[in-house]
Amino acid sequence: MFDITSYEEANSVQHAIDLLAANPQAQLIAGGTDVIIRLREGKVSDANLISIHDLDELKGVSIKTDGTIVIKPVTTFTSLAEHPIIKQHLPFLGEAVSTVGGPQTRHVGTIGGNVCNGATSADSASTLFALNARLCITGPSGIRTSTIQDFYKGPGKVALTHGEILTAILISPKDYLGFSGHYIKYTLRNAMDIAMLGCSVTVKLGIDHSVADFRLAFGVAAPTPMRCLRTEAAVKGHHFSEDLVERVGELAVSEVNPRTSWRASKEYRLQLVGELSKRAFRKAMSKTGGKGV
Ligand SMILES: Cc1cc2nc3c(=O)[nH]c(=O)nc-3n(C[C@H](O)[C@H](O)[C@H](O)COP(=O)(O)OP(=O)(O)OC[C@H]3O[C@@H](n4cnc5c(N)ncnc54)[C@H](O)[C@@H]3O)c2cc1C
Repeated sequence: MFDITSYEEANSVQHAIDLLAANPQAQLIAGGTDVIIRLREGKVSDANLISIHDLDELKGVSIKTDGTIVIKPVTTFTSLAEHPIIKQHLPFLGEAVSTVGGPQTRHVGTIGGNVCNGATSADSASTLFALNARLCITGPSGIRTSTIQDFYKGPGKVALTHGEILTAILISPKDYLGFSGHYIKYTLRNAMDIAMLGCSVTVKLGIDHSVADFRLAFGVAAPTPMRCLRTEAAVKGHHFSEDLVERVGELAVSEVNPRTSWRASKEYRLQLVGELSKRAFRKAMSKTGGKGV
């Protein structure tokens, strides 16, 4: 049933890098909720797996002295959503990953696997885009950092070369302090379904209660998760109003590039982009408790 040629368990990040270097065919497995499904479906044969599942150095959430939140990639969705740092500073990221699959998938699937599989539908991705997440990648020649935008290269494609491991996801204080946010996952069913569209809004109010910062990100609105930068620019500096909400919906539709799939037509997704961006904006604003909301 599972065509696995070899399976090795790494005992450190460096060990995993060495094991990958020794076997050009090898691939990492963290929670395995994507890798094992691909194997079961026969999309991968002759698999050589290197597990990072038990590496404690790749698990957990912490805050550096400069306020940067560090999310380790082998943190499961459940542990992430329940972590006190996430609950205090990034509750909307916790809410976003709580929409993944069902409880079993969330207990095993990891945020690192979600990002590294390169799917535009990944439920963590649009919120990580809205948070300007940076990724630490460790490989044979050391550690490098990439923005999440540069990491996504196309459907199922990410900027990792063989031997490289995602070792941390970083969120700067300038990208989360004072922000509220909201993620809407639109699916055919309420549980165990991949997003037909995912929409994430983060917003920060100024002292005059105008929208000082606003980020709008989508999953499944293009081949990779994406931000709507022109819409964002049009909102910043304005006071919240229903006219502004309508403007967000109109502008967002002009920035995205969804496709037709068996889940939904391009036209339906465009309609969802307009509607969900408005709903997520209203909801994120209501979470700020700001005036005029
Ligand atoms: C029943 C079911 C329902 C699902 N529902 C959803 C859903 O609603 N929303 C959603 O977004 N996803 C969903 N998924 C997909 C999957 O659960 C997630 O993408 C999950 O985050 C993958 O994490 P993992 O640790 O299991 O990844 P794995 O399967 O272990 O790995 C996935 C890919 O990432 C690579 N990888 C993993 N960790 C690293 C790392 N640290 N560095 C470099 N490469 C790495 C692996 O080599 C592999 O290519 C579902 C899956 C199943 C089986």
